[in-house]
Amino acid sequence: MSRGTYISNEYRAGAGPTLPLIDPSSGEAIDELTESGATDVDAAVVSARGAQATWAGQTPGQRARALLRLADALDDDAEQLTKLEVEDSGKPWTTFLEGEIPFAADNLRFFAGAGRSLDGTGAGVLSEGYTSVISRRPVGVVAGITPWNFPLIMALWKAGPALAAGNSVILKPSSMTPRTTLRLAELAAESGLPSGVLNVVTGGAEIGQALVRHPGVDMVSVTGSTSTGKAVMAGAVDGVKRVHLELGGKAPALVFADADIAHMAHAVALGATYNSGQDCTAATRVYAQRAVFDDVVSALRAQLEGIVVGDPMDAASHIGPLISAEHRERVHGFVCRGVAEGAELLTGGTYLDGVGSYYAPALIIGAEQDSELVQGEIFGPVLVVLPFDNEEDGVRLANDSVYGLASSVWTSDVGRAIRVSHQLDVGVTWVNDHLPIASEAPHGGVKGSGFGKDMSLEPLLDYSVSRHLMIRHAKPPETTGFRPA
Ligand code: NAD
Repeated sequence: MSRGTYISNEYRAGAGPTLPLIDPSSGEAIDELTESGATDVDAAVVSARGAQATWAGQTPGQRARALLRLADALDDDAEQLTKLEVEDSGKPWTTFLEGEIPFAADNLRFFAGAGRSLDGTGAGVLSEGYTSVISRRPVGVVAGITPWNFPLIMALWKAGPALAAGNSVILKPSSMTPRTTLRLAELAAESGLPSGVLNVVTGGAEIGQALVRHPGVDMVSVTGSTSTGKAVMAGAVDGVKRVHLELGGKAPALVFADADIAHMAHAVALGATYNSGQDCTAATRVYAQRAVFDDVVSALRAQLEGIVVGDPMDAASHIGPLISAEHRERVHGFVCRGVAEGAELLTGGTYLDGVGSYYAPALIIGAEQDSELVQGEIFGPVLVVLPFDNEEDGVRLANDSVYGLASSVWTSDVGRAIRVSHQLDVGVTWVNDHLPIASEAPHGGVKGSGFGKDMSLEPLLDYSVSRHLMIRHAKPPETTGFRPA
C-alpha cells in the first residue's frame, strides 16, 4: 500500500516520504507507505472542520447508529484487520483476533450508547425569573495521536468517544503500525460516517507536531511516552488547546505473605508479558513481602520460563517479537546495564534465535529501588522483584515512581487489599489480578502517566464542553448582578 493519507473518505497521495513497513517477526519489509506531509495535515484539518458542524448537528441517536454500524464492520472485517495488525506489530494472531478485535468492537458499542446520554444534562429554574439549560457541545476538531503497541484499540479509544460526542477526528497512528487505523477509516466510510468526520494522516513526531500546533485543531489527545506527552503539552500552549494524555507506566505488584503465590505468579507473568510486555499497564515491579520473597521469585521464574515466545501465526505462541530490532536493543540495554550494576538475571533476558526481534522474558532480582531497571519504562518483558517488610514499606516503594497508571495488590486479607489500594497513587489497582479492563471503567493515570481518561463515560466529558444557556422567562427581582438563588 503506497497510501498513507485518508481524507474525506478517500486516499490521497501523501506529500511525505515513502517508507517500508517492517514485519517484526521476520525483519522484512511487508509493505510500503507514503506518509503525509504538512500540506496533507492542512487538507485533513479543512476536511474535518468542514464536516464537524453537520456531524454535531446529527442527533446522538443518528451518530450512535453510524458508530454501531462501524462496530459491526470491525467484526465482519476481523480477519483482514488481524492480518494487518499482526504483520505491523508482531502480536499473536489469536490474541488479536479472539481478544483485541471483540474488545475494540465492544468499546465502540459502549461509546455509541454513551454518546446518547451526554446531551441535555440539565434544565431548571436556578435563579428567580430565569430558565437555565445546561448542555454539552463537542470541542470541535480533535487530533488523536496513537502509539504502536495497541494500534487499533488506541485509535478507537480516541475516535470512539470523540465522534460520539460530535467532534470530527484526525488520527495519526505510529509510523510503525499505521495500517489498521487506515483500514478503520475505510470501514468508517463504508459504514456511512460522513466524509471528513474521520481522517487519517501518517508520519512521525513532525506530523504529530504539525497537528498539535495547527490552528484548526481544537484538542489533542495522545497516547505515548511521557516525553511525547510533554512535547504535546508544549505544542498546545500557543493555541490554549485542551490536551488528553495517556502516557507511560511502571506498574507495581505488591505481593503480601498471605497471597496465593501460585495464582499470583500465573497472573503476574501474564501481566508482565502480554503483548511482549509492551503495555503501559504491564506488571513490571514485583514487591514481595520478605517472608515469601524466595517463593515468589521461584514461582515467577517457573511461569516466565513457560511462556512460549514465537511466530505470531503459531497458535502455540503466547507472545511474539518486540516491535523492532531497535526496540529489542533498547530493552536489552536496560537488562545489561542493570546486571553490570550488580542486579542478578535469573532467567531470560536474551535474544532468541531467528530473524525476528524475539526476546526471552527476563526475571531480575537484586536491583536497587533507584536504578533505571526499577524506575525506567523498559516496555518489554522484563520483571524485577524486590523485597519489602510491611504495608507501609510496600506502599512507599510502590509509590516511589514518576508514573502512576496501574498497580496490583496480592493478599487474602480483604481489609488490607482495600487499605493498601486506597494509598496507591495510580489510576487503577487490581486485587488478586493484573490487567483486565472493561469498556465501562475509566482507564488513565496520574503523575507522569498523564491525565484524561479512556473508556467509560469520562472521555465523552473530556471531548465535550459544558454550556449554560440562561433564558429570562419572567421579571426577576429588582436586584442586579450576583444574588443568591
Ligand atoms: P511515542 O511517545 O514514541 O509515540 C506515540 C505517538 O506520538 C506516535 O504516533 C508518535 O509518532 C507521536 N509523537 C512522538 N513524538 C511526538 C511529538 N513530539 N509531538 C507529537 N507527536 C509525537 O510512544 P510509542 O513508543 O509509540 O508507544 C509506547 C508508549 O506509549 C509508552 O510510553 C507507553 O507507556 C505509552 N502508552 C500509554 C498508554 C496509556 O493508556 N497510558 C497506552 C499505551 C501506550
